[in-house]
Amino acid sequence: MPELRHLLADAAARLGDRAEADILLGHVLGTPRSWLIAHADDALADSDVAAFAALVARREAGEPVAYLTGRRGFWTLELEVDPATLIPRPETELLVELALARLPAGGSPRVLDLGTGSGAIALAIARECPHARVTATDASAAALVVARRNAGRNRIANVAFVHGDWLAPLVGERFELIVSNPPYIATDDPHLAQGDLRFEPASALASGPDGLDDIRRIVAGARTHLAPGGWLLFEHGWDQGAAARALLEGAGYGEVFTAQDLEGRDRVTGGRSA
Ligand code: GLN
Repeated sequence: MPELRHLLADAAARLGDRAEADILLGHVLGTPRSWLIAHADDALADSDVAAFAALVARREAGEPVAYLTGRRGFWTLELEVDPATLIPRPETELLVELALARLPAGGSPRVLDLGTGSGAIALAIARECPHARVTATDASAAALVVARRNAGRNRIANVAFVHGDWLAPLVGERFELIVSNPPYIATDDPHLAQGDLRFEPASALASGPDGLDDIRRIVAGARTHLAPGGWLLFEHGWDQGAAARALLEGAGYGEVFTAQDLEGRDRVTGGRSA
C-alpha cells in the first residue's frame, strides 16, 4: 500500500502544485492539511488511493479545484459550489466591504444581490448585518438550489431567494442597497477558453461584445428599485471602470466612484440614487 507522502509527491509533480494535491487528498480523506503532514508515513486504503487518483486526473484535465471538492471559502463562509455556479473570487470581497460601508446603521435595510450564484455576496452581507433584509435573485434555478443550501449550511436566515432575470421578479420593490457581480467578460475574449473559466457557467461570465450588456441592463433597471439615497454597486473587469462610471452618470446616479482591488485594478463601481 502506497504511503501518503509518496502519493502526494507524485500528485504534486503531476499537477505542478503541492497545495492543490494537499487539498484534493484532504478532501478524499476528510482531513485538514495539518493531519496530512502528521500522517505522511501512513499507508492509504486502496479505495482512497483510487478516489485520489481520479480527482488528480480530473484536475490534470483542467477541472477547477473548487468543483472537485464542491467547496470554496468566501469572506467568513464556507460555500458549496457546483458547475451551476460561478466559483467565488477573493476580489469580490471588495464589493462586500464597500456594500457594508454603505448600509444604513439603524433599522432593517433592504439589500438586493442580483445574480447571486452560490449566494456568496448576499450571504456575506447578511452574516455581517443580521438586521438587514436581503433578497438574492438568479435566473438559474440550479444556482438558487446551491445558494439556498449555502444559507442553511451557514445558518443564515435573513436572505430570501427569488428566481428570475435581473430585476424582473421585483416589480414595485425598493432597496437601500443593490449589489451585483454580473457577467462582464466580452463574448469573444480568449480567456473564456482557458483555465477554470472553461468549466464555469457561460451565463455567469460572458455578456455581449464589450462585456457590458448585463451591466447596462442593471444600471438602467436599478434606478426605479432604489430607495432615495440608495446605492448601486457592481463588480466589473479591470478595463471597464470608465465605461461603468459613464453608464451610471448617464443614467443620473450621483456620487459615482470606482474602487480598486488589492492588485490595484479597477474592480467595483457604484453610484447613488438622487
Ligand atoms: N472575475 C471573473 C474572471 O475574470 C469573472 C467574473 C464575472 O464575470 N463576474 O475570471
